[in-house]
Amino acid sequence: MKLGLIFTSCALASTASAFSPAPFVASGRTSSSLNGNLLSTETGKASLDPAVFSRYSDLPYPVDRVTAEYVWVDAAGNTRSKTRTLPAAKAKKLETLPKWNFDGSSTDQAPGDDSEVILRPCRVFRDPFHPRDDGEDNILVMCDTYTPDGTPLPSNTRYNAEQVFKKHTAEECWFGLEQEFTLFNTDQRTPLGWPENGFPTRPQGPYYCSVGPENSFGRHITDAMYKACLYAGIELSGTNGEVMPGQQEYQVGPCVGIDAGDQLMMSRYILQRICEDFQVYCTLFPKPIVDGDWNGAGMHTNVSTKNMRNKGGIEVIKKAIYKLGAKHQEHIEVYGTGNELRLTGKHETANIDNFLYGVANRGASIRIGRDTEIDGCGYFEDRRPSSNADPYVVTGKIMDTIMGPDAPEIAPANKS
Ligand code: ADP
Ligand code: MN
Ligand code: MN
Ligand code: MN
Repeated sequence: MKLGLIFTSCALASTASAFSPAPFVASGRTSSSLNGNLLSTETGKASLDPAVFSRYSDLPYPVDRVTAEYVWVDAAGNTRSKTRTLPAAKAKKLETLPKWNFDGSSTDQAPGDDSEVILRPCRVFRDPFHPRDDGEDNILVMCDTYTPDGTPLPSNTRYNAEQVFKKHTAEECWFGLEQEFTLFNTDQRTPLGWPENGFPTRPQGPYYCSVGPENSFGRHITDAMYKACLYAGIELSGTNGEVMPGQQEYQVGPCVGIDAGDQLMMSRYILQRICEDFQVYCTLFPKPIVDGDWNGAGMHTNVSTKNMRNKGGIEVIKKAIYKLGAKHQEHIEVYGTGNELRLTGKHETANIDNFLYGVANRGASIRIGRDTEIDGCGYFEDRRPSSNADPYVVTGKIMDTIMGPDAPEIAPANKS
């Protein structure tokens, strides 16, 4: 289902939606080279000469053929992809896209003596990296992964999430995912805008939603990914510069059910592809700089069911929050690796060991927006998931919990 733009929490309700752990330990500014020397050290310098490359990219495609980039999630939660040529007629609908396979022994997803992993197409997007003007579209295909006998791989977290959402389609659960990410020079040690081997001279404060060359770093990445995601058909609802210099955010959604995971995963793929072009290193690790007063990165998850969006929905929201509170630890366990470094109770987070909820409280685990309180209906925000959290796991787990048995009331933590 495609949803219109949502401007308020519920006024429009009746009209309607890992990179897993960074390859390094977040040891802050003292860490040595984090990932070998895979990338050039020439920071932010795009590796392609557009004049040379366009000689090839400008060539027309055969009219009856399209390219299909099959994207999947690997054992570490990162996206991988490979490309094939398909008859244009077959690529128009999900149902006619063929399954494919890859060598799982090269991605830690299958043993060498039985290495084939099956890719099942789940969701189709337009390919923003290979646009064409002949009326056809090349495509990106989000896939999930199976053994040859049809068993979902352990890394196929989409499968379980889909089972949960299939049980509760009548609830029309919407998710808005806020994806924060941190950009580094290709040395993987120096966040964009930071001095090498040092800290910014000014503390956090001027950078959030900022403008100006002394405040805003990497806007070209966010701008490029914004446009590419919209072109692809991802429902990007906005972007903003973040509190830590070099950190940014985009929001995906609201999307219905399993589609939130599909869209978010594909947006991460697109973000990485763009960082490749710009030769900037991007990590979703939740606490890239541990030492000092620097915000971590999250994947705040905004949630509403049909009943929450309807009149009187605030009572449904509160009940859902009590259920989430009762299962706090279970949720924390699947909300991303390294999250304990981020959920400290400082830097706009609640401590990992405490479950707090409140209206307009950014130090809470769960926040109810001011508008939702005033309107008496709308949505809530789970602020706990980390930036590298698996969106299929997070959305599926939330759905499962809020559809579960009632839990005891919890008093709100509001600053009055
Ligand atoms: P914040 O104030 O926390 O930074 P953002 O504006 O970054 O909030 O993100 C809010 C997200 O919530 C957006 O993706 C938005 O589309 C989504 N959203 C809005 N209304 C709803 C709703 N009723 N249910 C779920 N998500 C919603
Ligand atoms: Mn936000
Ligand atoms: Mn944010
Ligand atoms: Mn938020």
